[in-house]
Amino acid sequence: MTSYTVINPATEQPVRQIEHTTVEQTDAAIERAARAEESWRNVGPSDRGRLLRRFAEQVDAHSAELAALETAGSGHPVGAATWEAGQVRDVLMYYAAAPERLTGKQIPVPGGLDVTFHEPLGVVGLIVPWNFPMPILSWGLAPALAAGCTVVAKPAEMTPLTAIRIAELALEAGLPEGVFQVLPGKGSVVGQRLVDHPLVRKIVFTGSTEVGQQIMTGCARHIKRLTLELGGKSANIVFADADIEKAAATAPYAVFDNAGQDCCARSRILVEASVLDKFMELLEPAVKGVQVGDPAAAGTEMGPLISAAHRAHVASYVPGDAQVAFRGTAPDGPGFWYPPTVLAPVAADAPAYTDEIFGPVVTVTPFADEADAIAMANDTPYGLSGSIWTGNVGRAIRVARGVETGNLSVNSHSSVRYWTPFGGFKQSGLGRELGPDAVDAFTDVKNVFISTD
Ligand code: NDP
Repeated sequence: MTSYTVINPATEQPVRQIEHTTVEQTDAAIERAARAEESWRNVGPSDRGRLLRRFAEQVDAHSAELAALETAGSGHPVGAATWEAGQVRDVLMYYAAAPERLTGKQIPVPGGLDVTFHEPLGVVGLIVPWNFPMPILSWGLAPALAAGCTVVAKPAEMTPLTAIRIAELALEAGLPEGVFQVLPGKGSVVGQRLVDHPLVRKIVFTGSTEVGQQIMTGCARHIKRLTLELGGKSANIVFADADIEKAAATAPYAVFDNAGQDCCARSRILVEASVLDKFMELLEPAVKGVQVGDPAAAGTEMGPLISAAHRAHVASYVPGDAQVAFRGTAPDGPGFWYPPTVLAPVAADAPAYTDEIFGPVVTVTPFADEADAIAMANDTPYGLSGSIWTGNVGRAIRVARGVETGNLSVNSHSSVRYWTPFGGFKQSGLGRELGPDAVDAFTDVKNVFISTD
């Protein structure tokens, strides 16, 4: 059996060795999940809700422990990791109310009564990336359990620690065996088996567009239900009539949060040409002020990248002759550090402008007018997120409607709020997570006609 040693990205020291799950163990877990689903789907709505609330409380009681695990295993600043553990609690609590509200319809028809039921799909395979191990796990897990599905989750090979602990907390909270299992291992082994196994009725995948395409092809063989959350290259559009001070002060956090390893990163800043110089003057101290350092220290805003290989990948977008406008700081010594980096000017066909870098590198490009801004924002195969800064309400609405992306914020950079739907346009994804309708994505609608004759 092979294994993986989790490395602390801030120190390069080993944290824990985790054994890989084999194909045979994956099959056994899927079969356990299928057996557990036969009774989980029949747990009464109020009892299912109560168990999810207990699970949320258990996560809450262990949030400091979960945050410390994420800081050690993924390099997330402890403040961010604490928020992430809180997000798991909140998402579980939000969907704990769903079983009691999973209503169908009564549809007027001649000759009888017609009603619809939302039937749970069955076993759900959840494939989670390394960038936000806790929140992304919870976004699929909580609505799936609420719908009456059971879940087999595969965390990313590099970041399995919090998922493993959350599965233990589920059992401690009283969830029956087999309802939620975590299988650490490789995507090409465990992930692939979840896609191929006929008893897995739905895949929820977050990760790269390339792997998402392979998974979509695999799911087609079984007409398997699928939700995809993929990459992004989102625009932060700043108009001349905006609060430029606030736009510049907040822009670094919209892209350097989680060291830029965020599918919603606003990694292209588009600025109306008439205020470009002023914006750049204000952006420089904001970038240099980002607190980069020991993720275990309170007050740290940005930690290291996830691995040496990923740092090399990010650095490849900033070759020796790159136009670096200015940079923030990063510690010397061990750790996969990379400083916040602003590139300007940058050509429209430069890889740094077109590719998802997934690191703390942002480009700044001027635009001429509103139509130009919309065209530039849309000139990408992605469409996940974005921000619009303007003092003109009409323009905010026009541009929000014009930008082809799933999640936009005006005069702010909020993106993922568990109360609202989240997902991508174009090659950024398929389907939506979160929000009031997420549970529906884990059910099939059954229509029943009862004759009154
Ligand atoms: P991947 O898409 O390779 O990984 C995401 C998840 O899919 C991991 O759990 C991975 O497992 C699993 N996986 C990999 N191959 C398969 C497969 N054939 N079948 C089923 N599951 C599989 O992302 P990377 O980690 O390689 O990151 C590469 C790039 O993707 C990033 O630089 C970024 O641009 C983008 N990305 C976007 C994310 C987002 O949130 N939208 C998240 C992560 C990455 P394992 O890691 O164990 O092999």
